[in-house]
Amino acid sequence: MKKFLAATLTLALAMTMLTACAGGDKQAQGADEPAVQETASGEENQEKTDAAASGEQEASQDAAEDAEDAADAAVSEALADGVLTVGTNAEFPPFEYVDDNGEPDGFDMGLVKAIGEKLGVEVTVENMEFDSLVSSIGNKIDIAAAGMTVTPERSKTVDFSDSYYEAVQFVILPADSEIAQASDLEGKTIGVQLGTTGDFTAEEFTENVSRYNKAVDAVNDMINGRVDCVIVDRNPAMVFENRFEGQVVALDGAQFGFEPEEYAIAIPKGDTALLEAVNGALEEIKADGTFDELVKTYIEAE
Ligand code: GLN
Repeated sequence: MKKFLAATLTLALAMTMLTACAGGDKQAQGADEPAVQETASGEENQEKTDAAASGEQEASQDAAEDAEDAADAAVSEALADGVLTVGTNAEFPPFEYVDDNGEPDGFDMGLVKAIGEKLGVEVTVENMEFDSLVSSIGNKIDIAAAGMTVTPERSKTVDFSDSYYEAVQFVILPADSEIAQASDLEGKTIGVQLGTTGDFTAEEFTENVSRYNKAVDAVNDMINGRVDCVIVDRNPAMVFENRFEGQVVALDGAQFGFEPEEYAIAIPKGDTALLEAVNGALEEIKADGTFDELVKTYIEAE
């Protein structure tokens, strides 16, 4: 008896579904019809009826409303409070360093101040460990400007602005070192700044990577004989070469087969409004000469 009931129910259900499907098909056909008509009326443009014209008016009103919505959405929450909080690690001259007054200064700081001016917001700088920057974006800080290289790994967590500078890793050596090519780096003790692309590069050659919070500490340890060489970005490497003149030399990483890198500003993942605002400001800064001024002041002066 139960079996019979179950069978009947199944049959009833199957029939309902069949009917629903058939209905669905009909509806689908019905939905197709106006589309065909629309195409027809589109072809005979001259013969538009009043009804069609008023329909068009509505459509353009809708489009206007959509545009308004988009404009509303285009105001980033990060900018809404009028303050752009920028994270950096002021241990990376000439891009960021602490000046004589104890304030973060450098190329990136000049760049984000100029971006703030273009966007009409105040810029405050949070100086923190380089390795904490990516995870702080979207909570402690709005964006990060720290000579940060665009990498696929970081791009999983943050978005990057258009890039603003091309870099490459350099190898800093004691003046009398014989290291000259990639194979010489195998198994050496290499000093780096923790969590940087220099760190990731060093890992490819050796298990003996000594990680520091400041690249300059790695250079000091190299001078004291604790590490064989230091891998760090070109511009800081050149600054250190000057600072420790006669004691160290900085070699171009191209000589070791290192690939070029691109610096960009890191932005909370998915905040397209902020991304577009920053990219727009960057574009203006490049077009109006501000960018070249910053290069002259901070990079070429070194
Ligand atoms: N460009 C390197 C990186 O992104 C180093 C940046 C830095 O030390 N501030 O990892």
